[in-house]
Amino acid sequence: MRKQCCIICGKPLNGGIIINGKGICKCCEEKIIKVRMDTDFYMYYKNCIKKSIIYPMIRGEDSKCQNYHL
Ligand SMILES: [Zn+2]
Repeated sequence: MRKQCCIICGKPLNGGIIINGKGICKCCEEKIIKVRMDTDFYMYYKNCIKKSIIYPMIRGEDSKCQNYHL
């Protein structure tokens, strides 16, 4: 299996959680659980999720279309 990296801190995953194929390490997961919703880290986390999960899904559609033409 391919080595997953945390989408928040970029470190290789050692456990933690996987959302939509994207990993979040134990350390960041704990931060997210403890963090208050009005903090910068929460905003940063939300942006990471958006960039890592939503945009590759859109790009995934594009690459599928390209493959179709081959
Ligand atoms: Zn992390």
